[in-house]
Amino acid sequence: MKTLYMDHSATTPTDKAVVEAMLPYFTEIYGNASSVHSVGQEAKRALEQAREQVAKLIGASPSEIIFTSGGTEADNQAIIGFLEKNSIKGKHLITSAIEHHAVLDTCKYLEKKGYELTILPVNNEGYVEIDSLQAALKPDTVLVSIMHANNEIGTIQNIKQLAEITHANGSFFHTDAVQTVGKIPIDVQKLGVDMLSLSAHKFYGPKGIGALYVKRGLRIGSFLHGGAQERNRRASTENIPAIVGLGKAAELALHDQEKEAARLLSLTEELISGILANVPESRLTGEQKPANRLPGLVSFCFDYVEGESILLMLDSFGIKGSSGSACTSGSLEPSHVLLAIGIPIEVAHGSLRLSLGHSTTGDDVVNVVNVLPGILKTLRSMSPLTPKNNCCCADGPCCTR
Ligand code: PLP
Repeated sequence: MKTLYMDHSATTPTDKAVVEAMLPYFTEIYGNASSVHSVGQEAKRALEQAREQVAKLIGASPSEIIFTSGGTEADNQAIIGFLEKNSIKGKHLITSAIEHHAVLDTCKYLEKKGYELTILPVNNEGYVEIDSLQAALKPDTVLVSIMHANNEIGTIQNIKQLAEITHANGSFFHTDAVQTVGKIPIDVQKLGVDMLSLSAHKFYGPKGIGALYVKRGLRIGSFLHGGAQERNRRASTENIPAIVGLGKAAELALHDQEKEAARLLSLTEELISGILANVPESRLTGEQKPANRLPGLVSFCFDYVEGESILLMLDSFGIKGSSGSACTSGSLEPSHVLLAIGIPIEVAHGSLRLSLGHSTTGDDVVNVVNVLPGILKTLRSMSPLTPKNNCCCADGPCCTR
């Protein structure tokens, strides 16, 4: 059976060209980039080349890139590292209710340490409304952190406008762009952000490596304490093979992200219209216009079923998706994102996210559209939540629901 991997927002396979680029840095060019001898300096050159490749992908200067161990560390450093260095300006920070836990939990950690936190609500499509940010900003607001595209519902925020309002207040703006970098064109100058997080494994690079863009002149503390690597902004010997892999993935993404985004957008449109037309009592979550969603990410809620059951049945057809609720996230709670956009708790349990990528073809989409209605029909026929399965009599009013 062919594997239809539709979980690219969780992670992507590492591109073979990326692996090829990384390999020599394990056994041949293995030096420590801080060493003065030629083996170390060769590693250093690779480090700086990767920095240029990453900078180019997002319209930054190489000196504005700090390598981190991934998106989570980049988010932690942006928030903790920035606030620690700038708390003289105030102790208030703002984020949104639909952030990834790497941001949300970091902000809550700081709240426990005595900072003041405002968590902004979002509307039904997952947008932070400009007026709500405007109303939350205070003279002592130091940082606003709002994600670029949401990892569960794919809504792409109006970052430029949110950053402008933040700057007009004299505050600084960070965005978690882990889901967008390498998938849609990004220019930090045009977005107007002060810091931006990215992660290699979301765009065909290796896991465990990411970067934080920090606008020139911004003061940010080192999150890890120790050596003077990354110009005193991130201690620890650089992971050169992974950094080279990130650089190569950035170079490849720059080359084909626009074409790939257009291809994925058209597959997204087919998948959305196919599922909504063929599965009754289903709803698309997040932004309703495919063009304003992260290309390739579709997310639905289906009444009367559990997301996990859908995933298991899809898996038996070779289709790999994910759900925002319960066991997949190791928690019994439904996704905080779905609740924040107003999905009722019982419906939020029936969520499905399919995220397409390089390997996805038009035939794969047709396959999903053919298979999913039958899966939902079977699960609903067994579910005690389905109204007709709940009937107390043969032809009572409940039978007509
Ligand atoms: N931020 C977002 C929006 C994500 O989707 C993820 C990963 O799923 C992260 C941060 C964490 O990135 P990493 O896995 O590289 O630590």
